[in-house]
Amino acid sequence: MDKFAVLKKYFGYDAFREGQELLIDGILSGRDVLGIMPTGAGKSICYQVPALMLPGITLVISPLISLMKDQVQSLNHAGIHAAFINSSLTENQIAKALQYAAEGRYKIIYVAPERLETASFMWFAQKVEISMVAVDEAHCISQWGQDFRPSYLKIVRFVGQLSARPVLSAFTATATGAVKEDIICVLGLKDPEILITGFDRKNLYFGVETPKRKNTFLLDYVAGHSGESGIIYCATRKNVEQVHELLCRMDLPAARYHAGLSAEERKCNQDDFIYDVKPVMVATNAFGMGIDKSNVRYVIHYNMPQSMENYYQEAGRAGRDGEPSECILLYSPQDVMVNRFLIENKEQKEENFGEEELQAIRERDEERLRVMNFYCTTTDCLRNYILRYFGEKGGDCGNCSNCNKEYKEEDMSEEALQVIQCIREQGGRYGINVVTGTLMGADTAKLREYNVSRFASYGGLRKLQETEIKKLIQKLLQDGVLHQTADKYALLKLAPLAAEVADGRRKVMLKLPPKSETSAARGGSFGASGVTDGSSKGKRSRKSDVLNSKGLECFEVLRTLRTEIAKEESVPPYIVFSDKSLVDMCVKLPFNKAEMLRVTGVGEHKYEKYGERFISRIKEFTGGAKGKYYFG
Ligand code: ADP
Repeated sequence: MDKFAVLKKYFGYDAFREGQELLIDGILSGRDVLGIMPTGAGKSICYQVPALMLPGITLVISPLISLMKDQVQSLNHAGIHAAFINSSLTENQIAKALQYAAEGRYKIIYVAPERLETASFMWFAQKVEISMVAVDEAHCISQWGQDFRPSYLKIVRFVGQLSARPVLSAFTATATGAVKEDIICVLGLKDPEILITGFDRKNLYFGVETPKRKNTFLLDYVAGHSGESGIIYCATRKNVEQVHELLCRMDLPAARYHAGLSAEERKCNQDDFIYDVKPVMVATNAFGMGIDKSNVRYVIHYNMPQSMENYYQEAGRAGRDGEPSECILLYSPQDVMVNRFLIENKEQKEENFGEEELQAIRERDEERLRVMNFYCTTTDCLRNYILRYFGEKGGDCGNCSNCNKEYKEEDMSEEALQVIQCIREQGGRYGINVVTGTLMGADTAKLREYNVSRFASYGGLRKLQETEIKKLIQKLLQDGVLHQTADKYALLKLAPLAAEVADGRRKVMLKLPPKSETSAARGGSFGASGVTDGSSKGKRSRKSDVLNSKGLECFEVLRTLRTEIAKEESVPPYIVFSDKSLVDMCVKLPFNKAEMLRVTGVGEHKYEKYGERFISRIKEFTGGAKGKYYFG
């Protein structure tokens, strides 16, 4: 089977994403590789696909138990024989797993680095053919990385003791120049194929806010994003407790996580979050590594983190599915003091280092804190600041709080007139999204359904970006020129003041971000024409862009089925199928095996497990008729 056939059969995807092929080809030709790719880029496929094609076993070194469990669960659901060996298993279970592994029952085995030097593991490793050792989260090997793990150094010794040297592959999302050099040098990669894809996560909005009362800001934000999943990071356990209590008092569905809770409670709270029982998680930075939840719509930092590395990694847990998501840092100058205290406290624990090393680490941490503090206070583009820190260049992005704040006020009275005309023409029957889409002249399934192109205002504000039109509407709401109905539809209506704008007695002034090349990639909902494979992160693929109201109903039916199956099998819903796969089913309406296999993310194994159940639900919903389209 070639790599494309493997990708389709086991993972259900038709094409590789940027860079994946280069690394896979490198591995298959026997070369070491290093992949530096942002979160959500698809690093796992880079070693999983070749693992299935190489003759022997692939060992994946991974730092976290939860990460291994999730990956192994996903692989088994895709029909790939995989296992993990770590301290969550009993000695008996480990012995059994090693015995099965030695019999060649697993193609991929996840292990924690601590395991590598145990006698039983070495016994196994020397007995079997190991084709590849893949090092996940490879920055843990570097003392310059934010999560240095001394046990990662064991990897090199372990590889040296094998009878034949396997291919080494290393992957990380965070790597400054020093970390990259460390990975290559410490791991001893031989003439590696190196791939560094851009660090920019176009679907993420970055914001720094300095509210007088963080709690008020937070409550408003979480309440205003009800039904959405988010993570709130706090610097200390005490903060976590306070913020968690605050949200619970307001009946907001929040879970909590920090190292002071029992392992049992942490597990239970984490599950509540992953299964969307409590979609908001309040946590210290102990939470998150290894959490593969793709639909996190916002990450709020209640306190400033200790470094940009930490910040970008934690904030990066938003929007893994490529959908627009927000990363907001709530800044107060006191946070610097708290962090200094935490850094000093951390030093006490680092017995592994000598005085000189400790001094170097202290200086490094101080420097990182300074850089982080600058991020919170700069008036430059935030994204640009982050990218520059990681060694990349970029222009102003138009999708961060500074780009949106900094620019001069413009007279938007004429444009406001267009908004008023649009709402008048439509009889105040629509909310902000339809009005914005109409003014943009957008062409989505939903807008076609409402036949908005018949209105004179259709495309009247084509020259503006979606976010600009929405800002204008927000401003008109603030100024009392418009108002919204209080029900869940929030329909836009004209207020008496609209007459003053209409006859020129009242000017509308608005602060707008600058126009830039990247602004087309700004978060918004009107770009999509179909389901993307996620290879282009900025492109929209929200279900509401693709599906019309009938399609959205179908989606809900399939989602219910997915929840049923997830409960039966005790796995998170996204392990069964992603939202993207469900949307594609609503578009393609598969009635048989061949059609179902054309749906993105449906491989042969998943088809065998779930295909028939989804097909029969789809047939039931459509009444067996394909003629009625559920999209565009
Ligand atoms: P990373 O480890 O880089 O954060 P993952 O390996 O978890 O990213 O991949 C992120 C998501 O992208 C997963 O849902 C994965 O199945 C999906 N994905 C990876 N490669 C492809 C591809 N070639 N086509 C479509 N989806 C892909």
